[in-house]
Amino acid sequence: MKIAIRREPIEGERRVAATPAAVAQYVAAGYAVTVQKGAGVAAGYADAAYVEAGAALAASIPLSKVDVVVHVRPLDAETIGKLPKGAITIGFASPASELDGVAALAARGVTAFSLELIPRISRAQSMDALTSQALVAGYRCVLEGAMRFPRFLPLFMTAAGTIPPARVLVLGAGVAGLQAIATAKRLGAKVSAYDVRSASADEVQSMGGTFIHLDLDAAADAAGGYAKELAADRADRQRELLAPHVAEADLIVTTAAIPGRPAPRLITASMVQGMAPGSIIVDLAAETGGNVEGAKPGEDVLVPVTGGAVTIVGMKDAASTMPFDASRLLGQNIANLVALMTREGGVLAPDFDDEVVAGACLTHEGAVRHEPTAAAIA
Ligand code: NAD
Repeated sequence: MKIAIRREPIEGERRVAATPAAVAQYVAAGYAVTVQKGAGVAAGYADAAYVEAGAALAASIPLSKVDVVVHVRPLDAETIGKLPKGAITIGFASPASELDGVAALAARGVTAFSLELIPRISRAQSMDALTSQALVAGYRCVLEGAMRFPRFLPLFMTAAGTIPPARVLVLGAGVAGLQAIATAKRLGAKVSAYDVRSASADEVQSMGGTFIHLDLDAAADAAGGYAKELAADRADRQRELLAPHVAEADLIVTTAAIPGRPAPRLITASMVQGMAPGSIIVDLAAETGGNVEGAKPGEDVLVPVTGGAVTIVGMKDAASTMPFDASRLLGQNIANLVALMTREGGVLAPDFDDEVVAGACLTHEGAVRHEPTAAAIA
């Protein structure tokens, strides 16, 4: 079968869905691979490396003749309209927000696998692209904050005096938050963190952070290890209890998210006003509504406070800011999913009795297979 790897058309997206290493795996499994010229250049992978891995290069890929398309961002309507019936697509499909795209995939008779839907079970860890990209994003958030911070992060004891370590606060301790904690610790900061899930205290401590216990009446665990949205009164109480911790922090990284919902608002404008001048807040959730009031995706917002300003960094395309390694991990996640579905001689034949395959399937044989998405479209 033929696998196509295209240049991601969305501006600002620098990742590629397959690196030369992933292509070599596809070729070894018997697939014929075509890579669009320049597909990996923004991520640091040259055309020649794909050719060496066994791919053919094409200026543009004739989509009507491909069997499998691997992609990073959700496919656009024009692309979907060119796919042959029965084509298989694998990539981020944003089923919670791209309802028209999902409906178009189903109408076209495409079998679409959405990386967001891969079950978060041990067996599927090697395919879990949400995790691999969150890891990149969490690491990067701390670096973005550190670069703007007018002070050191670690403790320095010098002949000219002692510089205390910076206090870093991480709000939301999922994959990205835990990586932010680890990165800030490596840089020598004093790190504390908070999350609503009951399991997170141990996870935060295992990364070397100090967990902040808020006196909310109960944790907010939902199915699949995710958090559920707090009711308005509990969200108010949460902000009230967080305010003194926010005021004390020098650098804050916020990563809180609820799948399929806007990001919870954890920091209000008045909480920002309580911070010291020079403090930095990096909001990883800026693109999905923002954990921080006033955050703008892709922008630094300077909020005047007494004696200076607090900078709110609105992260945008976070994983794409480190495209080489983000693509390396993402490409391997996708290649592992392909390998799970590969039969002898380069044939991709999904076994829908497999819980990972069935769970990741968004559309198949003209229907939307993911029930919550089907219900949202209906
Ligand atoms: P996510 O990106 O959906 O959300 C980020 C974090 O925000 C979560 O930890 C969530 O609890 C937190 N959050 C939501 N609302 C909040 C609020 N109001 N205040 C503070 N924090 C809030 O999360 P994720 O990184 O995808 O992880 C979700 C779960 O999946 C976790 O339990 C994680 O351990 C689990 N997980 C399992 C696997 C696996 O088994 N293969 C892999 C990755 C993650």
